Amino acid sequence: VARAYADLEAAGFVSSTVGRGTFVERQAEAPAESQVARARTSLEASMLPWASLLSRASRIESLNRAERLARYVEGRDVINLSRMQPSLDLMPDDLMQRCIERVMNDMGARAMSYAPPDGVRRLREQIAHDLNLRGVPATLDDILVTTGSQQALDLIARALVNPGEAVLVDSNTYSGAVDLFSVAGARLIGVPNDGQGPDLLALERFARSDVKALYLMPNGHNPTGMTISAERRHKLVRWSHATGIALIEDDFGAGLSLDGQPLPPSLRALDGDVIHLSTFSKRLIPALRIGFVVCPRPIRNVLRSLKRVTDLGTSALLQHALAEFMERGYLRAHMNRVLPEYQTRRNVLEAALRKALPPEVRWNTPYHGVVLWLRLPRSVDPDRVTEEAFRHGVQVTPSSLYSVEAEAEPALRVTFCAEPPDRLAEGARRLGKAFKAVMAQ
Ligand code: PMP
Repeated sequence: VARAYADLEAAGFVSSTVGRGTFVERQAEAPAESQVARARTSLEASMLPWASLLSRASRIESLNRAERLARYVEGRDVINLSRMQPSLDLMPDDLMQRCIERVMNDMGARAMSYAPPDGVRRLREQIAHDLNLRGVPATLDDILVTTGSQQALDLIARALVNPGEAVLVDSNTYSGAVDLFSVAGARLIGVPNDGQGPDLLALERFARSDVKALYLMPNGHNPTGMTISAERRHKLVRWSHATGIALIEDDFGAGLSLDGQPLPPSLRALDGDVIHLSTFSKRLIPALRIGFVVCPRPIRNVLRSLKRVTDLGTSALLQHALAEFMERGYLRAHMNRVLPEYQTRRNVLEAALRKALPPEVRWNTPYHGVVLWLRLPRSVDPDRVTEEAFRHGVQVTPSSLYSVEAEAEPALRVTFCAEPPDRLAEGARRLGKAFKAVMAQ
């Protein structure tokens, strides 16, 4: 009862004075229904010519990809082989709650200010330490904390690209990066992959005068799951030096190495000119919205200024909470818990897919990250399989959402992070039925 009174007082419904008692406060009257309805009607009857007020960037075609993806993500209780985020049972919610409480106890109102634009110092220290452990050289001052790595990509695109300039990307690539580069006005040029990484013969055709940057995901690529070989990484760095074209290395799945297999050196370890970005969304908690960039000083200063005007800094409270989480060793413990689980999930999904799918569907087993790229026979349309799969209660994403080419290679991306093993196996069975239905038509 005492807590209920305290809650009512905190919300301003009652006030109490020791010795006098508790009194109900007069509340400001809510506007009448009719007033609200009138205001809404006048908002809807727009008098301005919005179609001509909207910018060219807001109308680019690629933004519709996100809408198409949303169409697949919404809906009934469907098994989700489409999402690239940890399932709820893998979120360390109790540990994070403890860290937020600890920050509030220790810092109180001091945790509630704006953060410095490059990020809270103790978090940058932890990130630098974690990067060095993974072989990415970085000092505290090299790191710029961003609101998700999506913001890092946004800032990089704005810092590098003038409208009309070209950026190279893999022929299949992360649609969120395509959207941001496009909004910045870039012309995107797809580079084919020869099984080791981006095809060098294709890259030789480009010179600095035509192109600003090459955007890559060297480890557990999204959507193909592929990891670039060590030899190709050295050659990419040499190509960048020879042409003067910048390399952007997106290590979004940092830490998600499976089978204990070590990764080849990061591009940033081979070359201090590489712009390296990463995130805590995939290995930890997407809702933190914390990512970061490590890059050469001249660009870092530009990114920091852009970051400042974009959002005045990433949440200080969450940065302190994440720093607390890392300082206590929870991130290491969390990775020790989730990595064997992702390995199991990958194995369960692969075994179930091998049973359920037609033998012409092929894929490589990834040793980093959480996606499988299923290559389909030419005769099977991935968009149609995706639609049919949705009807059978399983979500996957078709290659058309990732391709920058006029015609996408026929493939599907499936993830094994967002569902527990039994549902992954059931998802594979449903996908098998969808294939049968499409191939029988
Ligand atoms: N890069 C890649 C390759 C991604 O797949 C994503 C999210 N799906 C991001 C960056 C951005 O993620 P976040 O903003 O959560 O860090």
